[in-house]
Amino acid sequence: MSKIKVMNEILANKIAAGEVIEKIASVVKELVENSIDAGSTNIKVNLLGSGIKSIEVVDDGAGMDREDAKTAFLRHATSKIYKEDDLYFIDTLGFRGEALASIASVSEVKMSTCNGVESTYIEIKGGHIVEVKPCPERKGTSIAVTNIFYNTPARLKYLKSDATELANCTSFMERLALSRPDIGFTLTNNGKVIVKTSGSNNLHKTIHEIFGMEVSSNMLEFKNGNNDFEISGYACKPHILKSNRNQMITLINGRVVRNNEINNAINDAYYTYKPDGKYPVVILNIETDPTIVDVNIHPTKQDVKISKINELCTLITDAIKKALYNNLLIIKPLEETLEKEEEIEVPFEEEVDIKPEVKQEQVFMDFKTEEVIHNEEIKSLVLYPVGLAHGTYIIAENEDGMYIIDQHAAYERINYERYMKRLAEKEVSKMSMLIPVTIEFSPSEFLDLMQKKDILESLNIDIEEFGINTIVVKSHPTWLKEGYEEESIRKIIDLVLLLDNKFDRVKFEEKIAITLACKMSIKANMHISHEEMEYILNELVKCDNPYNCPHGRPTIIKFTIYDLEKMFKRVMD
Ligand code: ZN
Ligand code: ZN
Repeated sequence: MSKIKVMNEILANKIAAGEVIEKIASVVKELVENSIDAGSTNIKVNLLGSGIKSIEVVDDGAGMDREDAKTAFLRHATSKIYKEDDLYFIDTLGFRGEALASIASVSEVKMSTCNGVESTYIEIKGGHIVEVKPCPERKGTSIAVTNIFYNTPARLKYLKSDATELANCTSFMERLALSRPDIGFTLTNNGKVIVKTSGSNNLHKTIHEIFGMEVSSNMLEFKNGNNDFEISGYACKPHILKSNRNQMITLINGRVVRNNEINNAINDAYYTYKPDGKYPVVILNIETDPTIVDVNIHPTKQDVKISKINELCTLITDAIKKALYNNLLIIKPLEETLEKEEEIEVPFEEEVDIKPEVKQEQVFMDFKTEEVIHNEEIKSLVLYPVGLAHGTYIIAENEDGMYIIDQHAAYERINYERYMKRLAEKEVSKMSMLIPVTIEFSPSEFLDLMQKKDILESLNIDIEEFGINTIVVKSHPTWLKEGYEEESIRKIIDLVLLLDNKFDRVKFEEKIAITLACKMSIKANMHISHEEMEYILNELVKCDNPYNCPHGRPTIIKFTIYDLEKMFKRVMD
């Protein structure tokens, strides 16, 4: 190779490095994926100073012969791409052959590798081979990358703080470990173990190793499929929620990917099981024909585009919904949980109708575990009212124990399911307004509303123009609460005005049902009669999910007889 050609190549590598290596985690990713491709069963990543000082990856894979070791750090020196079509396939992880070359061009690399026949030590600095010699034999490869970006100081500035770089590496290793339960992964920083999995080839065990006992013991298995997709995985019960989306992990054909539509499909499954702004822990495996997936839309290979995405999303939502539905929960008290700190709850999107000093967080704070109630049991659940506390909480009992029911949340659930059923009915069920209602709008609202007139009509609300920026409402659906027709219509019109171009019928109807349910339900601080309590409890147990209000708050808290006896020390453990 001529000198000029080599120079050009090193320059090209340095430029490529900027693209490929956005952060320390990108280097870790490239090195570890190479180890996976080499068939390793144990991969250790040892960082010093969050990887900014040094990144060492040690594997027990196939190793390389001396020739491969020398060319591994040259641009396009990949054994993985054979023809262009292969780019569509995501069976092999590290298909960007230039990654190792890019890394070597901006750092110092020391590699020892042994393929069982010969062993090689090679040292490269800024893309130039400095030394090649034999070394002690140990099957596999170990690569140490130090002083990253030493020769491109401008790039060095792009690296984030130690803490951020380490967090990125950790999150990458967690995801990778979950995607390959058959490989044991270890991540250390300055000698301290951060991630460690055993390579047991058992996803549930790997979930335990990554997330710990509380999460792993509260995961529900799910499965679904059609002609194009096989999906499976684990989804957490609704009381294990996180404040960010990072624990929603999707794998397509064994590779971690990112896709917003899939995340939304997962979230949809938890609809009304959780408050907004809270996210579940979900590990979702998708098996599909690789040609359905386009992984090449971003150089970091994580964002994917999928044809038939709608079918896939339906499969995902249905599967997780079913798993949740089959494992409905009652939050139940557990002693000694007060000292455990909890995540801060995001305020609920609900109109506050409780006394301000009754903090909703406390419901979550004091109650930690839950009891799985299967559907057959729900149908036979009977609750007898005992009394009302603070004009807000119904105390009830049955042969299993004692229950506290939030009267507003319960009523809201009853109304919500009722409205959802009525909204789903296909036949026209409208009645004329006894006294037609006129409503005035601003000019822009008025125009907007007239554009959306057919949406209102599809809800059995007929309107007509009635003077300047004013409408008259002629009819309304039969199921609006008597005496509250005008208020309900105004609420619905408000929601119609909020609609944007992405009109989703199902979500819109859910929104109407939630809003009206909240409005039309008994509030807290209302002293209801014994008969009204009986009515609420009877209707509540008939609900599909009696345990959460449509905003995701609990409706029922249960104390078993055993719980009570334990609290009063009538029994010892
Ligand atoms: Zn409410
Ligand atoms: Zn609510």
